[in-house]
Amino acid sequence: MKLAVIGTGYVGLVSGVCFALKDNKVICVDMAEEKIEKLKRAESPIYEPGIEELIEQNLREERLEFTSDLGEAVRRSDIIILAVGTPSLPNGEANLQYIEQAAADVGAAMNGYKIIMTKSTVPVGTNEKIREVVARHTRHAFDIVSAPEFLREGSAISDTLHPDRIIIGIDNPELRETMVELHQDFTDNIYVTDIRSAEMIKYASNAFLATKISFINEIANICEKVGADVTNVAVGMGMDKRIGSSFLQAGIGYGGSCFPKDTNALIQIAGNVDYEFKLLKSVVEVNTDQRYMIISKLRESLGQLNGIHVGIWGLSFKPNTDDIREAPSLEIVETLVKEGAFVKVHDPIAMDKFREQFDHEHIQWCSTAEEAALGCDAVCLLTDWDHYRQVDLRMLGSVLRKPVLIDGRNVFSEQQIAESGLEYYSVGRPRMS
Ligand code: NAD
Repeated sequence: MKLAVIGTGYVGLVSGVCFALKDNKVICVDMAEEKIEKLKRAESPIYEPGIEELIEQNLREERLEFTSDLGEAVRRSDIIILAVGTPSLPNGEANLQYIEQAAADVGAAMNGYKIIMTKSTVPVGTNEKIREVVARHTRHAFDIVSAPEFLREGSAISDTLHPDRIIIGIDNPELRETMVELHQDFTDNIYVTDIRSAEMIKYASNAFLATKISFINEIANICEKVGADVTNVAVGMGMDKRIGSSFLQAGIGYGGSCFPKDTNALIQIAGNVDYEFKLLKSVVEVNTDQRYMIISKLRESLGQLNGIHVGIWGLSFKPNTDDIREAPSLEIVETLVKEGAFVKVHDPIAMDKFREQFDHEHIQWCSTAEEAALGCDAVCLLTDWDHYRQVDLRMLGSVLRKPVLIDGRNVFSEQQIAESGLEYYSVGRPRMS
């Protein structure tokens, strides 16, 4: 099939590349010309393991093109996929400015019947708005499809090639066959439903996963007070098939471009129809508080923060991505420097993106984990990159001024800590040293 993908961010680029791999002709469009120039040279503007090899392969085999000319891409395609950003407005609602602009541009460029498929995460009812916007700009017939995306950054390619399920929302039953044909190369597990339900499935799924994370984090906080170990509790809970073991890792909470924005948006969606989503409000509140566990453990161990030197390991909101949107590291580093601490940071990939967002004279950018620890009063691990699991903890003890390790992701085992001689704080586990 001939596809145009509007927006070459984490979702649009990965989807475009994967649709091309399945023998579709794909044109990826972005209004950011510097991204398109890089992509034409098979250089990815985002860090995602394996993406550049696949871009290169698709370009070579002439299934994939990149352009900033949306009109041309629309005219040459049958299915137009909207994958632009839907960031939060200050009140938590989704900002639909990019999606509405893209819809208007698509409508204005149409030269015949098209299927317009929304992959961006959009509030319930947005696809109907998209239909109105497109209709205002074209006299040609078209159909609207909601196809929310569930990939995770860091494993986006395998998530797209082997998804648990694909959700398709349609209001014209004649589209079912085409949509199944387009997606069945990825999985047979395709659930076709109405458009509003498809839109809600995305928010409900992210809200549920965020709830699991905040739930286990609260259990962790209680474990610390009653002397239980949350990692053992999570194993035992996860053995129950009704619960499942995923998303039960206690830590400093979720971040990223999806969970924080989508939970807040769902609270707003409910509020707009006079429903107070009490449970989800608590999930968000627990998550916000959880980041400060790093700060309170530093205080518990070192007293005041003014003038102390802290090493930070990991800035991205999770491993294997350069994405720092809503990463806990932003608030933690900002709080530390505001309190007068000096911070030495390290991340294998995300330092440049972090620095664009937040810089300060108290921050020193380090090229290795060891350098970030050297001479510090404590090291705080914020992102569970594999890189940090490899660090020799005895070496860490020897380069730190005070041997304090605060592990915000429960990466290290009791045995590793026992051999290290470190004063170790983690989340929901008994104090070890
Ligand atoms: P992103 O910010 O990485 O990428 C969006 C891209 O769209 C940018 O490159 C931007 O330049 C481009 N763009 C915006 N308006 C445009 C226009 N009118 N024409 C052409 N290009 C335009 O965003 P993302 O992380 O890929 O997310 C996209 C959507 O997918 C969001 O709604 C998000 O909630 C959803 N989503 C994201 C993820 C994820 O892990 N990032 C997962 C599932 C769903």
